[in-house]
Amino acid sequence: MVVTRFAPSPTGYLHIGHALSALAGWRRARRAGGRFLLRIEDIDHTRCSARFSAAIIEDLAWLGIDWDGDVLVQSARLPAYQARLDELRARGLLYPCFCTRADLAGHEIYPGTCCSLTRGECEARMAAGQIPAWRLDCGKAAREVGSLRYVEEREGLMSVAAERFGDVVLGRRDIGLSYHLCVVHDDADQGVTHVTRGDDLRASTPIHVMLQALFGLPVPVYAHHPLINDESGRKFSKSQAAPALRSLRQAGRAAAAILADIERMEC
Ligand code: GLU
Repeated sequence: MVVTRFAPSPTGYLHIGHALSALAGWRRARRAGGRFLLRIEDIDHTRCSARFSAAIIEDLAWLGIDWDGDVLVQSARLPAYQARLDELRARGLLYPCFCTRADLAGHEIYPGTCCSLTRGECEARMAAGQIPAWRLDCGKAAREVGSLRYVEEREGLMSVAAERFGDVVLGRRDIGLSYHLCVVHDDADQGVTHVTRGDDLRASTPIHVMLQALFGLPVPVYAHHPLINDESGRKFSKSQAAPALRSLRQAGRAAAAILADIERMEC
């Protein structure tokens, strides 16, 4: 059975780009007679708020997008993610990183600075009160799992080049966890078969496939959809201001008209 999900982070009000993502997953499931799930990805307590979580539920209902079963709220299941992180640490696949933002300036891929710290050096820094981030030792992980592939629905088989993402952070210094770790745990735990989401997350997919391999989890099919452009042709990503669905609603726009707009933009 096809199982899809919409997994917004409640850091603001849903906008038209989110509506496209939600609709893509909803249609994919409904057309196949499958299940569509809603997950609130709110592990980042520094940016998420309950007010926005409530607004997500209200805005989806207004659009007429319904979901199956209970809403999964990530902040209610932190121990499960922590256990995943602990497992990787116990397997020697993580190392602590003490680099500051300034240390990393100009590096797109982590240069591996802290990978060569000795256990003693790490313990001394932690004993002195320094809180590390925890990075995946990507070379070691790649040697463990071998070559990896996944299916991008409209494009076919894609291969995973681990050196492109490098030693990503799986345990953030501020919240102790990371999006990558939690999304992989939940997609498997909820039996998601098709991950429908925006192109802005395409670059994260190889990291997710690597984690699935490390944990022995099934690999869903991925279907990344193009991002919606604003009038000047710039992509509406999460960081850019796009009209919030509730502003459109307050301005008198009908949900059906918004869905029709999205349908047009998709083709
Ligand atoms: N929570 C993520 C976001 O809002 C999306 C996660 C996903 O679809 O994989 O950017």
